Amino acid sequence: MSLPHEEAVPAAADRLHQFDQVAPIQATDEDIRAAVNDAELPALLAALAMLTGDESLLADDLKPPSPSMTSRISPQGGMSAAAQLKARALATEALIAYRNAGCPAPQAPSAPWLDRIVQFMIKSGHEDFMNLLRHELNLPKDAGAPTWSVNDFPAAAKLRVAVIGSGFAGIAAAHRLKQTGLNFTVFEKNAEVGGVWWENTYPGCRLDTPNFAYSLSFGQKQDWTQHFSQQPDIIKYLLEVVDLAGIRPHIRCDAEVQSLTYNDKAATWTVSSRNKAGVAREEEFHFVITAMGLLNRPSIPDFKGLDTFQGALIHSAAWQSDVQLEGRRVALIGTGASAFQIGPEIFDKVEQLSVFQRNPPWMLPTPTYHDDLKPGMQWLLQHVPSYGRWFRFWQVWMGVEGRLHLVGVDPEWKHPVSVSAANEMLRQECLETLERQFADRPELLHKVTPTYPPGAKRMLRDNGTWPAMLKSANVALVTEGISHLSENAIHTLDGQTHPVDVIICATGFKAADFLYPLQVLGAGGADLHAQWDGDCRAYMGITVPGYPNLFMTSGPNTGVVVNGSAIFFSECQVEYVLRAIGHMLDHGHHSIEVRQAPYEAFNAYMDESNKTKAWGVSTVSSWYKNRAGRAAQTWPLGLLDYWKLTEGFTPEPYDFS
Ligand code: NAP
Repeated sequence: MSLPHEEAVPAAADRLHQFDQVAPIQATDEDIRAAVNDAELPALLAALAMLTGDESLLADDLKPPSPSMTSRISPQGGMSAAAQLKARALATEALIAYRNAGCPAPQAPSAPWLDRIVQFMIKSGHEDFMNLLRHELNLPKDAGAPTWSVNDFPAAAKLRVAVIGSGFAGIAAAHRLKQTGLNFTVFEKNAEVGGVWWENTYPGCRLDTPNFAYSLSFGQKQDWTQHFSQQPDIIKYLLEVVDLAGIRPHIRCDAEVQSLTYNDKAATWTVSSRNKAGVAREEEFHFVITAMGLLNRPSIPDFKGLDTFQGALIHSAAWQSDVQLEGRRVALIGTGASAFQIGPEIFDKVEQLSVFQRNPPWMLPTPTYHDDLKPGMQWLLQHVPSYGRWFRFWQVWMGVEGRLHLVGVDPEWKHPVSVSAANEMLRQECLETLERQFADRPELLHKVTPTYPPGAKRMLRDNGTWPAMLKSANVALVTEGISHLSENAIHTLDGQTHPVDVIICATGFKAADFLYPLQVLGAGGADLHAQWDGDCRAYMGITVPGYPNLFMTSGPNTGVVVNGSAIFFSECQVEYVLRAIGHMLDHGHHSIEVRQAPYEAFNAYMDESNKTKAWGVSTVSSWYKNRAGRAAQTWPLGLLDYWKLTEGFTPEPYDFS
């Protein structure tokens, strides 16, 4: 059988392909068969089809039907038992043949053959996703790479670009900028790269979106060992990407950017930064890309009497590991994603844990949340070329639409809580799980049952640890509002006093204050924060009129809720920005500024679209909305919509000079 291929294997110079390295197979037939039993089959069939060119691995009766997600995801993409049996037999046979042939180095597959495999994995009629999916597969070529370099434009050599932040988005920006050959500096306020993943070191910190899909398209680590990795593993991954991408020399740590000032005449930005020792620097850049995230400036509520509290006060994102929890009375304020991970880790170490809940979260049953991948799955990832890549692709594909269909508002649907029949179905599924988990504790069941529609705020992964914690004898779930704090207690509105030694505020972030606390003075000295006045807006989440040559990642209205990952959006944004800069260089422009009309039209579109989603119509509090009650953080449409918006670059919405 001949392998459809057309090009040499990816250039050795692309060091990021080191993630693709696998070990040769020396296992016995029996061991291979056992490993295949643990496999995610659609991804394994795809990897083996790519390796062997064998069309029979993509037979129609093996095609995963990929039923839409409910509260759970169908195992094996909904493949029938017969299809799974056949797939396992074929996969085992292919792996044994590959081992017997001495595990030859894989040849690069042709683009049509890859498309054939992709079409096998996705639902029929979804061909409009192909460009997005090719980008995510990142084979046979790096679809996100810039199509130009400094060598194409003499003027490019003297340009300087500042990137602010070195989390996922900043690293993506740095990698793509390096590919262009532009001169750039990444400013990082912390001592090391990683953004929120460097900052959040609280007990239990881990991913709550599937691990493989939560990675960079150009840095596809093959051998994650868990479904939802822990914080140290994610930092390790980011450090590996930085190293392999060769961007470390461009990153300046301990350099917090404090202000950006636009110079109208020169069409440049003055970037003022300061290190922890107080040493200030001012530098000129032609372009600024902010990659500051939106969930990283801790928000501690202004509780009455906060300053009188004499115990230890910790925010989840600024963990103080020297504060002793063992044997002490601890308050955990908040029941969002951070609290949900912290509580179960600490409750059995403390004397008493009081959990202060305003709104209970909806929980997504996720039995594997804390689990390692099965041993056979891990073995396959370590030995089958590109299996990790196809497994990532599979997770991306399942998340592309995710649960978006379950959170849309049906104007005809009349229900006191849910917003559509599909939303009600999701609610019932989640309720059933809650009722089962708290059958022995009806008073708790009442307290933990949300009264808002699923999807109105972030749903949280549950494998039973949160309910087990709440039922523990030393844990109290307090649902009365907090009235004030005193020297050694939290007081609630019902007059109760809750003595505490340590307060953990898992109370979230200043998510609505984009770019906070950075001062941004644009054309004519206009202050961006004054202009926004707490109601942040941007065109495509990237640019704002009056602030030329300034681009945001994770900007207004680009936060994902129930589908995809923030990394996908950041990559779309970074690649769009480089297309914009390439266009400017091609046309000899010095500045780019979005016009008022497209900016306003885009925001009106966002507002209308957000009202069609559960989070847009629900009045429950969440970080999705700003002080004005506007859903300014959330992207209300599908991933494909954002992909299409950013896929090309058209100059019409912009003024250039
Ligand atoms: P959050 O979702 O904003 O939750 C804050 C919690 O604090 C909520 O339960 C909120 O109650 C409560 N709260 C806020 N002010 C309060 C007050 N004055 N009195 C009492 N309770 C108060 O913050 P988060 O848990 O840090 O998570 C933020 C986001 O970060 C997540 O949605 C997620 O996107 C991301 N994150 C991700 C991970 C991960 O991937 N593993 C982990 C952590 C965070 P209400 O619900 O009533 O508003």
